[in-house]
Amino acid sequence: MQVVTGISILNGIAIGRIRIYKAPEFKINENIVDDPDLELERFEQARVKVQNQQQVLYEKAVKSAGEESAGIFQFHMDMLDDDDLLDAVKSIIEEQHHSAEYAAQHGFDNVAQMFRDMDDPYFKARSADVIDVGNSVVSVLLGLDADSLQGTEPSILVADDLAPSETVRLDKSLLLGLITKEGSSTSHTAILARSMNLPTLIQCKDVSDDWDGKLAILDGYNSCAYIEPTKDLLDSLTKKRNEDLSQKALLQELKGKSSTTLDGKTVRLFANIGGPEDVGSVQMNDAEGVGLFRSEFVYLNSPDDPSEDAQFDAYKRVLETLAPKLVIIRTCDIGADKTIDYMHLDKEDNPALGYRAIRICLTRKDFFKRQLRALLRASAYGNLGIMFPMIISQRELRECREILEECRSELIAEGKAVADNIQIGIMVETPAAAICADTLAEDVDFFSLGTNDLTQYTLAIDRQNAKLEPFSDTHHPAVLKEIQMTIEAGHRHGCWVGICGELGADPTLTETFLRMGVDELSVNARSILPLRKIIRSVDLSKPEEE
Ligand code: PEP
Ligand code: MG
Repeated sequence: MQVVTGISILNGIAIGRIRIYKAPEFKINENIVDDPDLELERFEQARVKVQNQQQVLYEKAVKSAGEESAGIFQFHMDMLDDDDLLDAVKSIIEEQHHSAEYAAQHGFDNVAQMFRDMDDPYFKARSADVIDVGNSVVSVLLGLDADSLQGTEPSILVADDLAPSETVRLDKSLLLGLITKEGSSTSHTAILARSMNLPTLIQCKDVSDDWDGKLAILDGYNSCAYIEPTKDLLDSLTKKRNEDLSQKALLQELKGKSSTTLDGKTVRLFANIGGPEDVGSVQMNDAEGVGLFRSEFVYLNSPDDPSEDAQFDAYKRVLETLAPKLVIIRTCDIGADKTIDYMHLDKEDNPALGYRAIRICLTRKDFFKRQLRALLRASAYGNLGIMFPMIISQRELRECREILEECRSELIAEGKAVADNIQIGIMVETPAAAICADTLAEDVDFFSLGTNDLTQYTLAIDRQNAKLEPFSDTHHPAVLKEIQMTIEAGHRHGCWVGICGELGADPTLTETFLRMGVDELSVNARSILPLRKIIRSVDLSKPEEE
């Protein structure tokens, strides 16, 4: 087995035989021609033909990669109308009496060189587009057919480089992945490959013609390719590839569709995230918002107590990127299993029942205010919800709200913008909160059931203790009853109620939760589409099947 590395353009896995792709070779006659007018005419015909081809490629790319990615072919069409570029070619015919193909190759090369000499990386990368269009014109003039190079079996294509028009012209049904020796991650080939969802490795310096026909795995997750992989590797990466494929198929089927039951009840499917780096997965999996941003990860990823500005940046980034979707940020839930040195927390005998989450925030007011100010400032950039964890009483909740209002008044006095439509909610993750949900609902817009802690506290089973696994029952009737009680209490007071603990992603309970009246499920991003599929198949007007 040979392992080679490169730069990965897309996190995906391709498995198949390699096909070496060689661009057609141009043999251009350098002789002087007798009839320049005829060459001008030939060039004009080729120009029009390539422009028509680009129009077809544009339409093909719109379908397979979307309008934005297809824009490159519009750029190519415009290039073929550009007077400076056309004059550069025509003057070689008129003044030097060279053939149309010679003039096209040299004219386009000269303009490409001009782009290559520019400092701006964007313009530098455009030189490849100029060469690409030039090559298309030369191919037409030489009567070369570039389409017969892909073979007939689906394969991983390996090339020195691929021009955008070559990439889009490839038959996608025969294309498992791409490996190129050259290429930049901002080149249009890379952009197209990404939007065609094609695992692609660029700048793979070790590509070799000897690979032709060999079995290979392109592992975009690890930026490498395995040529003639071992059986174990093949088995494990085939499994991962198949998981990816079913996720992709779901995406194809369900992206943009609503999470609505057959009888018309719509639930919101939100994602749980740990920071700005997870926003991509929210979008890729078509989450309708963020139901739980575990803000303590901003603290855990910081070497020291993150400043108000550092937090503001992280929250703003998420809110701004996902606007107008709702993003619920949970205030710092540190303690228990999540410890941080710079917090100097004492060691406790029962940390899960100890000094954690809101208990720390309410006793370290400056620490809490720093986060609340950052959140309120970020609220001006999107649609924010703030959620307090581990609440057990109305007194705590009201204290949180008072401190929040204190921060809001301070910021307004400082002339800072703060949104006035921030939703406020709490995690219902203690039996106390579930039992007192009617009282707590008076002071919130929403409840989110934290079933991980709710289960641990209801069953008195430490969620960290693997030895207790046989005693645990995530479907315990006591927990389900608390969920039902909380949903009903919330609804009595006009609050919406969601689930953000792991149980929300349990597909065997989706229908049960729907029947209980849940309004939102916030789950790991990869569970969104499988859950949407289930929701769309449920009919709440019919009795639940046993
Ligand atoms: C929960 O307790 O269910 C929850 C979502 O919070 P965490 O897992 O972060 O404690
Ligand atoms: Mg919790």
